[in-house]
Amino acid sequence: MIPYGRQDISDADVAAVVEVLRSDWLTQGPVVPRFEEAVARYCGASQAVAVSNATSALHLACLALGVGKGDWVWTSPITFVASANCARYCGANVDFVDIDKDTWNLCPVRLADKLAIAEREGNLPKVVIPVHLAGQSCDMAEIRKLSRRYGFSVIEDASHAIGGRYQGMPVGILQYSDIAVFSFHPVKILTCGEGGVIVTQSPELANTVRRLRTHGITKDPREFVGDRYSPWHYEQIDLGYNYRLTDIQAALGLSQMSRLVEFIERRSLLAQRYTAELGDLPLQLPRVLPSIYSAWHLYVVRLIGASPRERRQRLFEDLHRAGVGTNLHYSPVHLQPYYKKLGFREGLFPEAERYGLDAITIPLYASMTDQQHRQVIHAVRNAFRGLG
Ligand SMILES: *Cc1c(COP(=O)(O)O)cnc(C)c1O
Repeated sequence: MIPYGRQDISDADVAAVVEVLRSDWLTQGPVVPRFEEAVARYCGASQAVAVSNATSALHLACLALGVGKGDWVWTSPITFVASANCARYCGANVDFVDIDKDTWNLCPVRLADKLAIAEREGNLPKVVIPVHLAGQSCDMAEIRKLSRRYGFSVIEDASHAIGGRYQGMPVGILQYSDIAVFSFHPVKILTCGEGGVIVTQSPELANTVRRLRTHGITKDPREFVGDRYSPWHYEQIDLGYNYRLTDIQAALGLSQMSRLVEFIERRSLLAQRYTAELGDLPLQLPRVLPSIYSAWHLYVVRLIGASPRERRQRLFEDLHRAGVGTNLHYSPVHLQPYYKKLGFREGLFPEAERYGLDAITIPLYASMTDQQHRQVIHAVRNAFRGLG
């Protein structure tokens, strides 16, 4: 079965991990800061903090920006649940902004409309979390304009987008946001096994995140409340967590960083071929805006025409029989049972709900061979012959 996505592990990656296993440090040691520096340097961010996964990264990003009980955090309904859950961990309320019908990212026009209403009603968001779906950056300049006007902070959920560019600049340079978060889960662009990185240009935010990553403990005498009694003195000044990344994971991530450009180029080439070879089918293919270089984490297509849900089900089954794995990224978050219990219902975000009925992800990953890629194209074309 050709999966929709998978990791690409080289002998050099294996050697880097083995080297750590034979060293003095297994958990956070000297390799974590080297990995952080590599990510920061690539993005052009001054600060990078590695944590256990992107979910904990989002949680700490919200906490560092002061999100708490009674606050509002807005995100896209077409994302992984973690983009919304991070606000719930902080006791905040979540709301969603519907997606753009072409890019499938959070729509800046709908965001502007919703902000105008929220201002009148006195429930403006504290933080907005745009998600760079499938590796395509959101319209960050527009979102930043609104953030300045209405006074909210911006966390980019860039879990799909390391290696991507916006207006010619790397995602993570933070020209238009406060914090960006990357995921290093195995299906993403690069992997640590499990891992996440927070990047920011603010030393204060980075410092807070570093402290919260390790139980809220500081060893910096300037931050001590009490007297420094002894060399081993430390103080817990916040309620933090154990969200550390291990050196084992960081070694894998650091080794993978050296192939980031190669990975993205391969993904781009395969995506372009899909676009050329599937363009005549009754499908809406991904549309990447001219100002954007996508990291191509996913290749999502949408069925055009009547009863998309039923036809998608048959497409899934036909492709499965042909050895091609597909998936949905994502079912709208507001329709998950947990969010429905909070009062969300069908009809609130119609573009996202349509997407949830007609979108399907076909395989795309750097280690996919040309032959596997042809097999997918062939299987999709065949399936459409059957679907009529
Ligand atoms: C994968 C993903 C996350 C969570 O990443 P983990 O590293 O698995 O915690 C968050 N947001 C989006 C959009 C993702 O795709």
